[in-house]
Amino acid sequence: MPDPNGFLRYGRRMPARRPVPVRISDWREVYPPAGETMIREQATRCMDCGIPFCHSDTAGCPLANRIPDWNDLVRTGNWDAAVESLHATNNFPEFTGRLCPAPCEAACVLGIGGGEPVTIKQVEVEIADAAAARGLTPRPASAPSGRSVAVVGSGPAGLAAAQQLARAGHAVTVYERDDAIGGLLRYGIPDFKLEKRHIDARMAQLSAEGVVFRTGVNVGVDVTAEQLRVQHDAVLLACGALQGRDTDTPGRQLRGVHQAMAHLVAANRVVAAAGEGQPALATLPDGTPIDAAGKHVVIIGGGDTAADCLGVAHRQGAAGVHQLDLYPQPPRGRDEGRDPWPTWPWVLREYPAHEEGGERVFAVAVQEFVDDGTGAVRAVRIAEVSVDKRDGRRVVTAVPGTERELPADLVLLAIGFEGTEEQPLLAQLGVARNARGAVDSRADWQTAADGIFVAGDMHRGASLIVWAIAEGRAAAAAIHGYLDGVGVLPAPVHPASRPLAVH
Ligand SMILES: Cc1cc2nc3c(=O)[nH]c(=O)nc-3n(C[C@H](O)[C@H](O)[C@H](O)COP(=O)(O)OP(=O)(O)OC[C@H]3O[C@@H](n4cnc5c(N)ncnc54)[C@H](O)[C@@H]3O)c2cc1C
Ligand code: SF4
Repeated sequence: MPDPNGFLRYGRRMPARRPVPVRISDWREVYPPAGETMIREQATRCMDCGIPFCHSDTAGCPLANRIPDWNDLVRTGNWDAAVESLHATNNFPEFTGRLCPAPCEAACVLGIGGGEPVTIKQVEVEIADAAAARGLTPRPASAPSGRSVAVVGSGPAGLAAAQQLARAGHAVTVYERDDAIGGLLRYGIPDFKLEKRHIDARMAQLSAEGVVFRTGVNVGVDVTAEQLRVQHDAVLLACGALQGRDTDTPGRQLRGVHQAMAHLVAANRVVAAAGEGQPALATLPDGTPIDAAGKHVVIIGGGDTAADCLGVAHRQGAAGVHQLDLYPQPPRGRDEGRDPWPTWPWVLREYPAHEEGGERVFAVAVQEFVDDGTGAVRAVRIAEVSVDKRDGRRVVTAVPGTERELPADLVLLAIGFEGTEEQPLLAQLGVARNARGAVDSRADWQTAADGIFVAGDMHRGASLIVWAIAEGRAAAAAIHGYLDGVGVLPAPVHPASRPLAVH
């Protein structure tokens, strides 16, 4: 029986982030562990609600994590059982515990009326780290099913599906065009949010469960879709939504104006190569420098991607950073009229990167990237704007007389993604992108091509890790059924289709 008064005795507390001057001089994670005493107190705040909204996959956790159960197991120090309970619904809680925006916390009953929700995400990460400290035990299937599945793409959707299917006895091969496994977790998200040792530990577990990883294989180019169909009984497409949105603002062609992902991938590669030491300069594959050291950086966009660029720019030694957002500054607390509890609220999201420096400028749009006379950017000309919706379309209007320049020798476009990339694989399969650039599926997760399934960002558009895992698990369940369901599949969930965030 949980402690019904726990939240009266303990306030919401998080471990103190590592000091800014220390953490921006390395690439390690920002949060230290909470420690047993603090996390057991925090778990004690959970009331084990009769209707736990945190756990609901329509307002709270898309994975329907058994949050009140494992909160109580942590409260009582029953760590082994907490590890079991968490892994029953989530293959990779070390990723979501670190990176999820936590819709469960927005839906927590303790948050009603502006109260302080349980630190669900922190409890989750502590359980995940307890599991890692004990060693991630492989759970290979007791017998092979005789069926084989190809998974294209090794982000969280592909990896979750691969683990589910391998544990049911299917022979799974994950094909990844990058030189390392992990999708956006590996080369998109920086180490200060997710150290890559967490991905490596999971890979070792999946390998021991029989999953075969083939990196450096661009399916559709190095291997054709037809070859994949011949070699495997089913194929899961989990290729992400990596087509970055661009702009036709005058001056876009200038040197120094780049997609945010180009910056993040280059920085992540340097960190991966250098371990923990100070990195060499980040460059594009053709050798063009894309490092913020000593530069005035302007980041355009207000989401996760923009915040990640901000944190990277400071670690690279930027001279100054502006982060521009088209929309006005959101309120700090939930507007009950607009977003009543337990829905996901429009509020100001402040990431640890924001306390490291830089200036956020709201309700502005870039009118021009200004040439320094040699074909390189030297400034951005911005104007204050209002944003309206007319006939369902966004209309941005500049306020006359508000134009000004900000110095800029590196500009990063973090203005979202336009779905999965157009690539030979799709044409080979006869699978088309829809109006949002995503690939549709039927209710059984199959695309227009028989035996070809789809999950994750490729299916729902740029979204979140928690949704990628949820969709990977659901698609794995559908594939398992398609393969006649020989062997036992670990419990699936079937997520509802619910948008949450755009990066
Ligand atoms: C910068 C950034 C920061 C983010 N931060 C967060 C965060 O803090 N929290 C959060 O919840 N979400 C975050 N997200 C979103 C999250 O990373 C994605 O929603 C998630 O990774 C999607 O998983 P996925 O498996 O569908 O695809 P991805 O992770 O995109 O993986 C797709 C993989 O498929 C591979 N691939 C594509 N085509 C082929 C092919 N033909 N052959 C072989 N391989 C192929 C790609 O190389 C890639 O590795 C962030 C996204 C970005 C860009
Ligand atoms: S809604 Fe909050 S208090 Fe209620 S069970 Fe979930 S975490 Fe505990």
